[in-house]
Amino acid sequence: MDLQVVEQVARLDGWLAEGGVVVLSGAGLSTDSGIPDYRGPSGSARRNTPMTYQTFTGDPLARRRYWARSHLGWRTIGQARPNDGHRAVARWQERGLLHGVITQNVDGLHQAAGARDVVELHGNLARITCLACGVLTPREAFAVRLTDANPRFAAVATAVNADGDVELDDAELDGFAVVDCVDCGGMLKPDVVYFGETVPADRVSRAFELVAGARTLLVLGSSLTVMSGRRFVLRAVKQGVRVAIVNRGVTRGEPYADLVIDAPLGVVLPHLGAAPVIG
Ligand SMILES: [Zn+2]
Repeated sequence: MDLQVVEQVARLDGWLAEGGVVVLSGAGLSTDSGIPDYRGPSGSARRNTPMTYQTFTGDPLARRRYWARSHLGWRTIGQARPNDGHRAVARWQERGLLHGVITQNVDGLHQAAGARDVVELHGNLARITCLACGVLTPREAFAVRLTDANPRFAAVATAVNADGDVELDDAELDGFAVVDCVDCGGMLKPDVVYFGETVPADRVSRAFELVAGARTLLVLGSSLTVMSGRRFVLRAVKQGVRVAIVNRGVTRGEPYADLVIDAPLGVVLPHLGAAPVIG
């Protein structure tokens, strides 16, 4: 770390020691776990436009394409393990330094590292929901059903996106079969918020509550490009809550932040939150 970053980290460490920190994490926190951030500096621009709810529910071919790609992507996302950044956040929570954890990620890696009560703004790819009866199915069980329904599907994923989508040529999709709800035959969808879909109101208000009760809003690995995340920074500023950002590359939260650390999360986060608690 260069001297400037060392000084910034020391300042942030002091804020952590005061407690009352709310973490807001984005894709940049999970890149060290092998899940690429297609918006960030290390991610390549994706070819597929993200799936929308309207296309998913209204276009059977698009839905087949989506499930084929998502099925491949799950092999990467489902096997991803938490990294030092996720472990640091779980440790801060264990030490009582956090007022809450909000994530834009759908990979479940905060919880895998031991964090509790995580507000998953955009849902979690590890759950499948039925759009007709609402029953939730674990992704593992669903993946077994998809594999069984497609014994000859042998396509290999190339680039995997943070939302579990992969690049796949239509030719490889040949005959891919989608499965429906075992209970009611209804349409199944990953329990994630699609592009253009709104985050459920109870989740948003829970996240706003956490921000309102925070001393510091700490943004980790998000460029705050979409309003879905940026609105929490704007709310924090409005309510006099301090804002700190640790992110690789430029973020749109910069004008609002009291502190911005542009450094790899895996280098910075393990150094934080070890000092005695000020309380
Ligand atoms: Zn159902």
